[in-house]
Amino acid sequence: MRRPVIAGNWKMHLSLAEGLALATEIRNRCGRFRTGEVVLAPVAVQIHPIAQRLADSNIAVAAQNCHAAAKGAFTGELSPTQILDAGATYVIIGHSERRQFFGETDEGVGKKGRSALDHGLIPILCIGETLAEREAGRTLEVVCRQLDAAIAPLSPEEVAGVIIAYEPVWAIGTGRTATPNQAQEVHAAIRRRLAEKTSPAVAERVRLQYGGSVKPDNIAALMAEPDIDGALVGGASLEAQSFIQIVTGALGAESN
Ligand code: PEP
Repeated sequence: MRRPVIAGNWKMHLSLAEGLALATEIRNRCGRFRTGEVVLAPVAVQIHPIAQRLADSNIAVAAQNCHAAAKGAFTGELSPTQILDAGATYVIIGHSERRQFFGETDEGVGKKGRSALDHGLIPILCIGETLAEREAGRTLEVVCRQLDAAIAPLSPEEVAGVIIAYEPVWAIGTGRTATPNQAQEVHAAIRRRLAEKTSPAVAERVRLQYGGSVKPDNIAALMAEPDIDGALVGGASLEAQSFIQIVTGALGAESN
């Protein structure tokens, strides 16, 4: 059985005081879920204090990006070992905003994922098509190309341990969610591709998150799809009430 995982991507939002308050409220209200995992991804300089605040819960912390090298002359970058040191256990890699605004390439995503695993971080590898690509009927071609590059440097056993986040670019921050059917169609194709590239048994173990305007009112329908194992949440993770409702909607009614 795949363990569902809900992650909140705070992007470049929230002051430290706001981040600590939000993490505290999430911890207090859903910090002990056993039916799945909850992950928060604050801005890099807040990883350490947020991880400390969450130390007595089972909520994990993610970085929003990493460099592929363990150390070196890369001004302004963060290495996987430093991320681990700061208290994170996951790292989001290849988010569409990184691809769009910071020149991240398919090959670079593969290298970062490789390095994250080498240093003990669980990568959340993001893939997804733009609106133009969808409208041109190229969704599966684009998603499979990005997926292939992301997993190329990994062994089948390593692939089984990563998280793949399918995030159609046209649904990120737009309020326009893929319908559960649209998301399931692509998730099923991703799992088929994983089976071809590794094995059916490995593909069955890989957790596939959906991301793109996930809200309290659409999480249950998305999670009801057989190949959707969680969500990567942007805007709705910045507010305790909506994120907690998403967690509860996805993982059930367990509470402290
Ligand atoms: C994201 O940035 O990963 C995301 C899914 O954002 P939003 O939920 O705001 O669409």
